Amino acid sequence: MKILHDVHIHNFLSTCSNDNRATVESYIEIERRQGIRLMGFANHTWDETVPLPVADYDFYRRQSLSFQQQIRPQIPADTGELKVLVGAETEYCGMFDCLGMSPEGARRLDFLLIPHSHTHMTDFVMPASENLPLAQEAIAKKLAETVDWLPFDDLLRVARRLPHGTVAPFVTERQERIPFVSDFLVKSFDGLMKNQTLNRLVGTLPISVAHPFHPVGEPHREEILRRIPDETFGDLFAQAAARGIGLEINPWTTDEEERMFRIARACGCRFTLGSDAHTRAELSDIRRQQSRLDSLGLTEDDLMDFVRI
Ligand SMILES: [Zn+2]
Ligand SMILES: [Zn+2]
Repeated sequence: MKILHDVHIHNFLSTCSNDNRATVESYIEIERRQGIRLMGFANHTWDETVPLPVADYDFYRRQSLSFQQQIRPQIPADTGELKVLVGAETEYCGMFDCLGMSPEGARRLDFLLIPHSHTHMTDFVMPASENLPLAQEAIAKKLAETVDWLPFDDLLRVARRLPHGTVAPFVTERQERIPFVSDFLVKSFDGLMKNQTLNRLVGTLPISVAHPFHPVGEPHREEILRRIPDETFGDLFAQAAARGIGLEINPWTTDEEERMFRIARACGCRFTLGSDAHTRAELSDIRRQQSRLDSLGLTEDDLMDFVRI
């Protein structure tokens, strides 16, 4: 399969882009030159109508949906052979079961990428402290001793909303980092699939999981993935396939990720390709995944409909 699309592209409006010349215009020019036929902008976006689970989380306070939609009028009416889409890379905060895009907001997008693995966003996506979930459960149990008129699940929800500083003293057992991250990734993917907002979005626009099971900022990524059995991946990807949710393949795919994608394919999942470029130079990274795609034996039939040329 020839690589003809890239639907995970950040321009300079994304806070983490350090290329001031990463403009819509320059990107379109580069993509045309390198033979890409469909490109999709996917800047980091938190829909401002969805309350942030952590009120002062700066990274997303600025990167609202309205802010990122500045891109749309900048796209020339005639881009020749190249089709240009405007999507978003939003956020799924696994520790809060909170998705940063409302169904109303999603109507302004051509497609949506959802990461569940921004593990570097501590105390927002993933708890900073090992076994915070256990500590939250301990707090909920303590509350249950006196508050007997609320179901335990509600008390657990209250405990999960407490600031890290309040919960930290209750952390008694610490889990080793690798199993902790590995367990988190499984839980957050499962949580995303069952998330209420996500299930309202399904069918309204194309959705792909950005860099699935790629814990950002973690060393030992292969060890983290190796702990996840084929059957667990199978259960999770069957849920994605049933909802028509795709998985993204990136240039940095490792052997363990290849194992994961094979299982996903067997479950009937379809795929999108994304460089996750934040600069003009990184746009060429999309080519680096050709050998993985060949090794996986992917064909156009394995792609989500909206990225087929
Ligand atoms: Zn990401
Ligand atoms: Zn990205």
